[in-house]
Amino acid sequence: MKVARFNLNGDIRFGSVVENQVSLFAGNPFESKELSGQTVSLDQVQLLAPVAPSKVICIGMNYAAHAAEISQDVPDEPLMFFKPISAIIGPGDSIVLPPQSDQVELEVELAIVIGKEAKNISKSAVKSHIFGYTIGNDVTARDIQFSDLQWARAKGFDTFCPLGPWIETEFDPTNKRLDSRVQGELRQHAITRDMIFDVETIVSFVSENVTLFPGDVILTGSPAGISRITHGDDVECEIEGIGVLRNLVA
Ligand code: MG
Repeated sequence: MKVARFNLNGDIRFGSVVENQVSLFAGNPFESKELSGQTVSLDQVQLLAPVAPSKVICIGMNYAAHAAEISQDVPDEPLMFFKPISAIIGPGDSIVLPPQSDQVELEVELAIVIGKEAKNISKSAVKSHIFGYTIGNDVTARDIQFSDLQWARAKGFDTFCPLGPWIETEFDPTNKRLDSRVQGELRQHAITRDMIFDVETIVSFVSENVTLFPGDVILTGSPAGISRITHGDDVECEIEGIGVLRNLVA
């Protein structure tokens, strides 16, 4: 099931997307997937980031080829950092280039959406704590990532966390293609089986360090091929089995 969050005539609602139709949920789909009976056309609604999390956790250096391209060692355990929720934007929203950086880059990433509170969970319990998966773009001011000791600023500017277009609740993350394109030109092309730490390892590890709440998002790391985005660019992040997240650069 594809679960979307959207603005319908000023109300924020969740719905299940099937082709060009959206069936509205009666309430919050994290609690119940009961439908209200109301259906609207997908082009009648403005899609929002598919979830409003309490936090966005990111895993860095989770593909060996990406660590190599930015001259970093592969970590011994998942490398965690945070993006502020003020960075989140939805499908079609603009990524705004901050004046502090001359090198803003895109990173297509598989995003895990947590369904159930998780603290100290084992790898075998991870699947039952996941609501679904969406697409994230870990937009990064690469120059600031290297000039600052911490990554908070480089990864945390407003609009640096596009999410969407929806959450796919029936998705097997083990062997899926990830692509990013800028102006229609391929920039990243990888497969999730090349992740150093898999979804079970990541969620279990994160839950040993911080409590995860329903709706929290974990970005699982970027494959190689990161490259600069500039004013006016049309940026697409695609994951096989989920869809395409498209944003323009302003
Ligand atoms: Mg990243």
